[in-house]
Amino acid sequence: MALDSTTTAVYNEVVRRNPAEPEFHQAALEVLHSIQPVLQQQPELRDARLLERLCEPERQVMFRVVWTDDRGRTHVNRGFRVGFSSALGPYKGGLRFHRSVNLGVVKFLAFEQIFKNALTGLGIGAGKGGADFDPSGRSDGEIMRFCQAYMTELHRHIGPHTDVPAGDIGVGGREIGYLFGQYKRITNRFDAGTLTGKDLVLGGSFVRPEATGYGVVYFVEAMLAERGHSLEDKTVVVSGAGNVAQHAMAKLQQMGATVVACSDSSGYVHDPSGIRVDVLREIKQNQRRKLDAYPELVPTARFVPDRAPWDVPCDIAVPSATQNELGEADAIALVKNGLIAVAEGANMPCTPKAIDILHDAGIAFAPGKAANAGGVATSALEMQQNASRDRWSFSDTDKTLADTMRNIHSSCLITAADYERPGNYVVGANISGFLTVASAMNTLGLV
Ligand code: NDP
Repeated sequence: MALDSTTTAVYNEVVRRNPAEPEFHQAALEVLHSIQPVLQQQPELRDARLLERLCEPERQVMFRVVWTDDRGRTHVNRGFRVGFSSALGPYKGGLRFHRSVNLGVVKFLAFEQIFKNALTGLGIGAGKGGADFDPSGRSDGEIMRFCQAYMTELHRHIGPHTDVPAGDIGVGGREIGYLFGQYKRITNRFDAGTLTGKDLVLGGSFVRPEATGYGVVYFVEAMLAERGHSLEDKTVVVSGAGNVAQHAMAKLQQMGATVVACSDSSGYVHDPSGIRVDVLREIKQNQRRKLDAYPELVPTARFVPDRAPWDVPCDIAVPSATQNELGEADAIALVKNGLIAVAEGANMPCTPKAIDILHDAGIAFAPGKAANAGGVATSALEMQQNASRDRWSFSDTDKTLADTMRNIHSSCLITAADYERPGNYVVGANISGFLTVASAMNTLGLV
């Protein structure tokens, strides 16, 4: 990616200050590249060192998490929480529990969140956190003790007006419940607005579990409509089999598409007659097993170990597992097989080279910070409901989510056209999010 002298200097400083954090460098490079035309039009932003400020997290917390397993053995993990920008509201973004978590991963996720949260228009800043804890194979008791140990430190740094965590990889409703329980115990306050993604009984919102996956599909629907297509009779491949993937698959099927493959960290399942989400739920949530169990329950399906699903022919691909999971060779295979659209359910799942290949082939490409913004948008709705001690109906909340996704889609398209990159959702999302947060930062003064 070619950068001009200003953005090169900012990028070099990001790399110098944040060594060995390739995911953060990758996320920063993409945004800096996209927003160059804005800087040419508004040189005053360079003088205010806005980019330098935007690329430096407001705060980063790293802490030791000590817990004991069911056999009484002691484990030591590292916990993180990065508050990247509070220009638009309290830090907001999920917690990831996965063995691959490190400061660079958390920083890239929090950085992406700045632009994503700005795109929602809902007054939320950007943060992210997690731990290098591997939840696979752990009992409920072990998960609870880990969550309690993690929250014992995190509680000092969060609150409804400061920083509001939610879920991400490895953190779903069960973990949010345990985290909230410990927060409530330590602080002596039932501050429901401190965490989102809560169970309904704790003040959670209807549609929050579904929101990221449903939102991706609403975005795809808008993107296809722009090109005279619909989801009816389309073949879709989704990666992942977790929260985002399952709800995306359910909504895709409701809208007339057939999802023929999905994956987890052990491999992928392929079934041309359509993947059954109820079976996925049984395997992943109830039995907490890997996808090799799927053909035991659905004999028409084939399990392919240790592979991503991108060689399965499809019209639409929805990568919804993790960062950099769809590379150059995958993009080439997808294009060769007749792909028309890609929407990122995960954060940064496509590598920069894969995105170039998709753009060059004229594929409609929706970046995660636009396409998966429905999750955090509905978290903001959960915060609103907690603040007013109210509960909105499923249908009203779902309608607000769908409207939000259509608005984000339009902002991306309009902004991309304004900056002479028609149809480029990456440029549209980055510039649109940047303009909002830059305006707030200018209004706040040098803080
Ligand atoms: P889950 O933990 O519910 O599911 C993650 C899925 O991805 C699992 O099937 C997991 O497999 C698979 N996976 C994780 N890491 C890898 C890997 N290295 N290689 C292959 N497969 C992998 O997480 P979510 O569905 O919540 O999150 C998925 C993505 O969506 C992440 O990028 C997250 O940041 C993003 N996202 C999530 C939001 C949310 O609301 N939850 C909001 C916006 C974005 P296994 O089960 O075998 O571990």
